[in-house]
Amino acid sequence: MRVLVTGAAGFLGSHLSRYMLGKGHSVIGIDNFITGNIENINDLFKNPKFEFTKYDVTNYLHVPGKLDAVMHFASPASPIDYLKFPIPTLKVGALGTHKALGLAKEKKAIFMIASTSEVYGDPLINPQVESYWGNVNPIGPRGVYDEAKRFAEAMTMAYHRYHGMQVRMLRIFNTYGPNMRLNDGRAVPNFMTQALKNKPITVYGDGSQTRSLCYVSDLVDGIYRLLISRENNPVNIGNPHEVSLLELAETIKKLTGSKSKIVFRALPEDDPKVRRPDITRAKKILKWQPKVQLEEGLKKTISYFKARV
Ligand code: UDP
Repeated sequence: MRVLVTGAAGFLGSHLSRYMLGKGHSVIGIDNFITGNIENINDLFKNPKFEFTKYDVTNYLHVPGKLDAVMHFASPASPIDYLKFPIPTLKVGALGTHKALGLAKEKKAIFMIASTSEVYGDPLINPQVESYWGNVNPIGPRGVYDEAKRFAEAMTMAYHRYHGMQVRMLRIFNTYGPNMRLNDGRAVPNFMTQALKNKPITVYGDGSQTRSLCYVSDLVDGIYRLLISRENNPVNIGNPHEVSLLELAETIKKLTGSKSKIVFRALPEDDPKVRRPDITRAKKILKWQPKVQLEEGLKKTISYFKARV
């Protein structure tokens, strides 16, 4: 296959590009570096099957030659980035998805959108199954991400229905691993950076809110299985092992052997109280389920952070 990956220098885009190259496919990466980092893909430039262009996917896209898949992974993905870049977040999910869909249509390529558990908002059911429509505040601080991704799914489904295109919508739940930015602002990078520097570990709220964390290698395996499947409906990809944020902070403190204190800070607006994927569909259709246990994945991620703090 010859595939285009948008957001190729980002956390997931870089792992995905490396994985696709490892399978012998050719990858054209694009990224505008708003949150991506060239360090994440430096090693890929040696591979003759990797091409890269600095580009903003919200503009008209042209790629010479054949393409078998367009994988749209570009987007700020951390709540603090939504506050810093609200309009680029809306644009990449809406206009960027439109451009990427147009390119996929032109090339008769499969289109894949990196959607998110955020389409469920602050969910009123737990775990979240794909048939749940969600509970999103459109005008809240997270609305710029949630609504852009919801629009992206609606647009993707419209191209599938109207143009008969092959589409893949993956709803990604919290994922962690190497290549996350140290100052990304999400719980895992924050807790690890704080613990490794013996600075206070900042738990928002009382830490009873939950998340379910998937190690990045499991996620990328799920992405690939979805790509080569024939499933045009959304599929949750995530690890159903649910932990409270306080538990996560304590685990990271233990694994780093840190002297940090755990401190409590205000809970951000519209912060979801629970999140856990129902992965019945992924298990059935993709024969996929995560393999990496939380402590094992956290240890690998700590090694990456240790080398950089
Ligand atoms: N969180 C926290 N301390 C931090 C960063 C995040 O307690 O330093 C909490 C945040 O309020 C949320 C959870 O961790 O309840 C996961 O936040 P993250 O930013 O990782 O992503 P989200 O799942 O909210 O998109």
